[in-house]
Amino acid sequence: MKGPTVRFLGGVREIGGNKILVEDGPDRILFDFGPSFSPRVEEFYVNFLQPRSTNPAKDLLEFDLLPRLPGLYSRDALGDGEFPYTPPEVHAIFLSHAHADHAAYLGLVDPDIPVYVGDGTRTLLSAIETSTRTKYGTHPWRVFSDRRGIRVGNLEVVPYPVDHSIPFAYGFLVRTREGTLAYTGDFRHHGPRAADTHAFFDAVAREKVDALLIEGTRAGPDPRKNLTEAGVRGAVDRVLTSNPELALACTYPRDIDRLRTLYSAAVAADRELVVSTRTAHLLSQVAPRFPRDEIPLPGTSSGLRVHVRKKRVSYLWERPFLDEALPSEEVRRNGRKYLLALDLAHFPELIDLRPPRGCPFLHSMSEPFSEDDVDDHVMHNWLDHFGLEFHQLHASGHASGPELLEIVRATGARTVYPIHTEHPEAFETAGPSVRCPELGRVYPLSG
Ligand SMILES: [Zn+2]
Repeated sequence: MKGPTVRFLGGVREIGGNKILVEDGPDRILFDFGPSFSPRVEEFYVNFLQPRSTNPAKDLLEFDLLPRLPGLYSRDALGDGEFPYTPPEVHAIFLSHAHADHAAYLGLVDPDIPVYVGDGTRTLLSAIETSTRTKYGTHPWRVFSDRRGIRVGNLEVVPYPVDHSIPFAYGFLVRTREGTLAYTGDFRHHGPRAADTHAFFDAVAREKVDALLIEGTRAGPDPRKNLTEAGVRGAVDRVLTSNPELALACTYPRDIDRLRTLYSAAVAADRELVVSTRTAHLLSQVAPRFPRDEIPLPGTSSGLRVHVRKKRVSYLWERPFLDEALPSEEVRRNGRKYLLALDLAHFPELIDLRPPRGCPFLHSMSEPFSEDDVDDHVMHNWLDHFGLEFHQLHASGHASGPELLEIVRATGARTVYPIHTEHPEAFETAGPSVRCPELGRVYPLSG
């Protein structure tokens, strides 16, 4: 029987798109299954032009936008394409966290393949499915416990919580018949749960792993401005101290830490944080997974309100929030009372909000990764039109370049594979153990 191997089917020289196959004899596990954001998928599918919902895997395979892995896809997703359906040959999928670049292709997977997730991630995925068009498919969902090993054939997977810009993120230790590997998922070293990240890498070091599969989002040149979460709070406080008529903010919809930062800053400035119905739904779903009173709850926590936008229909999941929700006209009349979180997709509300010129707009997300970012261009057109004052205030969900090198040295892994990065070679200064992986190539764990 051949020895254990690792294959990278995505996440190679790109930020996102992780798909990592670990094989040991007959046992096969996939870690994460997300779309490759750019450039590949977007070369063929954009906005209005998407794979057909009847056979999405067939439409993606046409352009090699998915790996040709037998025994992974559902019969429905493959449709009548030339890549044929075969019964499951992958025995489990482990999900590191609920971000789209790791999870969004789960809906293409054969419904007989079990998907292992953390308890909180299961809740996040359900909240996302309820309140967006994203669907993860039906699977035997298996919820794992922190640091408790799970056996899949000869493989043992131990999930460790790590800190990232979405809660309930995990790294994994994987023990095979011959040797061990660690997969980091996405993590940061500096957030509110940094102790979890440190404990994971301590375990990785103790295990003396043969292979470390490490994310490197911020490896190499990183001109983007980055604060700590406390730094974001301080910067928001400074903006609100100037007592603007209305303050606007825009953040990642599932960055619970950031929502808590904005909420506490708003309350400290005697304002109310106003969030979308989608954020309200998410907060109400995840709150029970946190210690009591840690998460502001719509309808319960003072200082948190819900924004109701002008639209023709309201969904069932929005209804619990609508009676008490604030329309844009109210936010406009009493701007000084509010910090309004407004997604780019909801910018037409600005036409009703009529924020006074010079009103601060807190961009509490990553700066664009490329200079010709379309969304960024459109956002600035709107900000210019309304004369809003732009503030870049973000704490990254990822460890910095120097931190990554330090971790690589400290873990002492025999071979290091940088993934989820555009600059894998930036790891090479950490020593000769670093090996930049190639897409689809099979790497023996002992090699
Ligand atoms: Zn990611």
